[in-house]
Amino acid sequence: MLLKDKVAIITGGAGINGLGFATARLMALQGARVAVLDLARAEPGEAATQLGDGHLGVVTDVTDKASCEAAVAEVLKTFGRVDALINNAGITQPVKTLEITGADYDRILDVSLRGTLYMSQAVLPAMRTQQSGSIVCISSVSAQRGGGIFGGPHYSAAKAGVLGLARAMAREFGPENIRVNCIAPGLIGTDIIKGKLTEEKKAEIAETIPLARLGRADDIAGACVFLASELSAYCTGITLDVNGGMLI
Ligand code: NAD
Repeated sequence: MLLKDKVAIITGGAGINGLGFATARLMALQGARVAVLDLARAEPGEAATQLGDGHLGVVTDVTDKASCEAAVAEVLKTFGRVDALINNAGITQPVKTLEITGADYDRILDVSLRGTLYMSQAVLPAMRTQQSGSIVCISSVSAQRGGGIFGGPHYSAAKAGVLGLARAMAREFGPENIRVNCIAPGLIGTDIIKGKLTEEKKAEIAETIPLARLGRADDIAGACVFLASELSAYCTGITLDVNGGMLI
C-alpha cells in the first residue's frame, strides 16, 4: 500500500461525484487515514463514514483562516500528524470578462487561491516539525490555455495563481523535505460542470481530446496518490497535466 500509516487531508472532499471524494477513497484504499474537509452543506462527516472506519470529516470553510486552523488542529488531535494535504476545494462560474463583478472575482479567488494559502499555512508548522510532507494543489487546464471550457477568466486567474503559489512554496519548503506540486486536470465529468455544458458540447470537446473522452474523477485520484506518496519523492514544484492530451 502506497500510503500506509500516512494521514491525508482533502479539502472539498465530500461531494460523492467529485475529484476530492474519489481521491479520499483511493487514499483510504492505499492505507491512509483520511480527513475530509468541506462546507457544512456538503456533509463531510457523512463522506468520511462512507470511506469506512478510522477516517474523519470536519466542517471547514477554506476561505476562513480560523476555520482552516481549527480543522487542522482537529486532525492533529485525532491522528497526531499530517503527511499530505490535497488543496482541492474550488468553485467556478461560466462568465465572460466584461460580466465579472468584484463580488464574483472575490468569491472565485477566495476559494481556490486564498483557500490554498490558508490550508497550506495551517499544515506547514506540523510538516515542518515532522520534516516531511506533501502538498498537492488542484489547478486547472483553464490556467494553462486561458479558459475557454467552462470557467470564467477569474477562474483561470485563480488557478494560474495556484500554480505560482505552489511553486513558491515548493522553493521555500524544499530544504525541509516538504514537497509542493500541482495537478492541472482537463475536463472531468463532475458536479462542477453539471448544467454548465450540454451533452452535445461535451461530445464536441471529447472529439478534440487525443484520448477521445472527458476525464474521470479516478484519473485525478491516481495522480494525487502518486504526488502524495514516496513514488514522487524527487518531484517538487511540478505541474502534472491530467487532461487526455488536451494541450498537445
Ligand atoms: P465539485 O464541485 O464536485 O467539488 C468542489 C468541492 O469544493 C465541493 O465539495 C464544495 O462543497 C467544496 N467547496 C466549495 N467551496 C468551499 C469552501 N469555501 N470551503 C471548503 N470546501 C468548499 O467539483 P470538482 O470537479 O470535484 O472540483 C474539484 C477541484 O478540481 C476544484 O478545485 C476544481 O476547480 C478543480 N477542477 C475541476 C475540473 C473539472 O473538470 N471537474 C477541471 C479542472 C479543475
